[in-house]
Amino acid sequence: MAKRVGVLTSGGDDPGMNAAIRAVVRAGLRNGCEMYVIFEGYKGLVENNIYKVDRSAVSEIISRGGTVLKSARLPEFKDINVRKKAIANLRKNKIDALVCIGGDGTYMGAMRLTEMGINCIGVPGTIDNDIASTDYTIGFDTCLNTIVECTDKIRDTTESHQRCSIVEVMGRRCGDLALFAGIAEGVDMIITPDHPISDEDIIENLKEWKKAGKKHVMMIVSENIYANIAAFAAQITKETGYECRAEVLGRIQRGGSPSAQDRVLAARLGAHAIDLIMEGKGGLCVGLINNKVVHYDINEALQLPRDKHMNLLRLIDLLK
Ligand code: ADP
Repeated sequence: MAKRVGVLTSGGDDPGMNAAIRAVVRAGLRNGCEMYVIFEGYKGLVENNIYKVDRSAVSEIISRGGTVLKSARLPEFKDINVRKKAIANLRKNKIDALVCIGGDGTYMGAMRLTEMGINCIGVPGTIDNDIASTDYTIGFDTCLNTIVECTDKIRDTTESHQRCSIVEVMGRRCGDLALFAGIAEGVDMIITPDHPISDEDIIENLKEWKKAGKKHVMMIVSENIYANIAAFAAQITKETGYECRAEVLGRIQRGGSPSAQDRVLAARLGAHAIDLIMEGKGGLCVGLINNKVVHYDINEALQLPRDKHMNLLRLIDLLK
């Protein structure tokens, strides 16, 4: 009997989710499955927002940012009674397996559903690159390119006016976006949750650079390090001699057409998720390690220590 497989996107959206949805639907159909999409993540499961699709339903979405299935956050999904409603809806639609595209919260939901009898496979869809079971998450590369494009523009005016700019980028708990963008931009300093620097040390550095005749300064900082980044920029202006501006890039980082790299990653990981479902497996998540498609037990994946790329950090100072 043909398998019936659902796919959903959950948690923070990112460019490349659509390419992953397309890969899952097309690979599933090719394997003889009946394919279903669930709108609004786990919320849609609970509300029975579930529809059968054919291959044309995912036409023309490979290049689109965001997620055509919409995303939602449903904190109540941690409650088993709420999840029971989701399981009942899946049973009603005779769906026996699910592909859940999202971050570590989404993985937790996928694991809980697997424990309740529906085989789920997690696919890493998040801009932050904060999932240890893959070298890169789908969306990271596109977001990084957006940051670099924006920061190039900020750099032009920073240099012209001989200012100091602090560019704030996303990455609440993981500094990869700031670190990789920092290297791509050749910035003078990065400040991330993985690599914090005290306000005093930043001010001291800037004073020294000013004294040494350095004309302008570019810094990249992860979000949530400063409660009020404009106030910190004002403090820098007051204490260092550099006119400092804070530039918060915000949600522009989440959108846009996915890069070729993210689309290829989405195709590889989406297809592997279907391979695992065809083998009758669940409670796993897929990833790319050393350019090889791999999978891990979700429990194990969530315990893995994340690579903080300290080997790359040295490049910030080395190449300054
Ligand atoms: P992300 O997947 O991007 O990390 P969230 O952390 O918001 O985003 O998680 C997405 C959704 O996954 C949550 O809104 C919730 O529905 C579900 N989820 C998160 N943690 C759990 C958990 N411990 N048990 C069950 N479901 C969870």
